[in-house]
Amino acid sequence: MQPRETPKSQSAELLNLAAERAIRYVDSASARRVSPSSLDLAALAGLHEPFPAGPSNPADVLNQLEAAGSPATMATTGGRYFGFVNGGMVPAALAASWMAGAWNQNASLRVMSPIAVELEDVVLQWICEALGLPLDCQGGLVTCATMASFTALLAARHALLRKAGWDVTENGMFGAPPIQVVVGAEVHASVLKALSMAGFGRKRVTIVDADSQGRMRADRLPQLSESTIVCIQAGNVNTGAFDPADEICAKAKEQGAWIHVDGAFGLWARVSPKYAHLTRGIENADSWATDAHKWPNAGYDCGVVLLKNGDALRAAFGINAAYLEPGARREPMQHTPESSRRARGVELWATLKSLGRDGLRELVERTCALAQRFAKGLQDAGFEVLNDVVINQVLVSFGSPEVTREVIRRIQEGGTCWCGGTVWQGRTAMRISVSSWATTEADVDRSLDAIVRLAAESRSIASRA
Ligand SMILES: *Cc1c(COP(=O)(O)O)cnc(C)c1O
Repeated sequence: MQPRETPKSQSAELLNLAAERAIRYVDSASARRVSPSSLDLAALAGLHEPFPAGPSNPADVLNQLEAAGSPATMATTGGRYFGFVNGGMVPAALAASWMAGAWNQNASLRVMSPIAVELEDVVLQWICEALGLPLDCQGGLVTCATMASFTALLAARHALLRKAGWDVTENGMFGAPPIQVVVGAEVHASVLKALSMAGFGRKRVTIVDADSQGRMRADRLPQLSESTIVCIQAGNVNTGAFDPADEICAKAKEQGAWIHVDGAFGLWARVSPKYAHLTRGIENADSWATDAHKWPNAGYDCGVVLLKNGDALRAAFGINAAYLEPGARREPMQHTPESSRRARGVELWATLKSLGRDGLRELVERTCALAQRFAKGLQDAGFEVLNDVVINQVLVSFGSPEVTREVIRRIQEGGTCWCGGTVWQGRTAMRISVSSWATTEADVDRSLDAIVRLAAESRSIASRA
């Protein structure tokens, strides 16, 4: 298709159409079912047509997208989505993402997009301030916490092997001096994935016992050395629990180890004086991975990696090519695995700017309070909450594994809210993660009503069987 076939005025019409559709979706998100109905899912089959031979009218494309797409979304922005740890999207982030779409910036290098990279600089600085991390940290924005951990671990690998006299960038991992990796028994699976991608292997790790909340037992740490990477966790995905960073960091630092923190959502507890104590000592780590698409509600996708020693990032990820400017300042592609990338800093900047320190604190505290409300409601109804609800995560059992699984199935199908399942230290449970800015007390109460009703139904069916 020739670009000239779409005159400017038609673009404006198309964008207005998109805005109209999007606003309609936003306004209806809290009223509609959270999960798509089976009919809406079945309609997705209609998308599988042969690749169109010729062009389509862009307005028709958009209309088809809305007709098939909107009903088949998970309404994660409506306030009653409690699955995984999926945040919503604050209004400023959504609006900024529309601007960013119009800009279509490649945040790879400063010369490609001065604004995209400048906004990254600003938000990385703000995040260090908000999280109480060293202000001279360097970092980058990546897709997700998995990639953030991967990025940090590659930088750690480079730094530790360099100390051992081995340049891993030039010589690779075959024949390199060994590195010991230590994780807790309740390490997030994504850290193991990142370790395997970094050549450390998922099984080649030393696993330290965890307690009933999933916290690494600092008293069980093995002998560490300058060739050790210790991966600690801030916010277990099931319980919300925090590894005792204070003790672990003190021991690990004394022995020269590199400490990496997986704080995908939990790290944000540091913005609240009420919860920051859970993360005490974490500022003494060497690298941190977190997500802005989780608790801060910046929208997808937005992982953040921070390093105390930014040189390790440049050493691990810098590339040279005749057409690339070396650059005296941080260049995103020289500090992270990816080159071309979307300008994540735009939405993240809008999110943090619109919330401010107080807004971020309020968001964290409110979602924690709503998790408490869930826990109390479930306990009052006679169900067992399996974890200490320290932040925004609740684990609940409805009885036998079969009954709990049946309740989860009915909740997901029912559409009032959405919660996922898990097995926590041998017990089948339902996970409730309150991660959206949009969730209100009324959302929690309405969800509790549905959960308690469906749980009672499942139990009575099970007792009849
Ligand atoms: C969600 C989560 C991850 C992975 O995050 P992604 O952004 O999906 O890669 C890692 N660790 C913890 C503790 C998490 O909660």
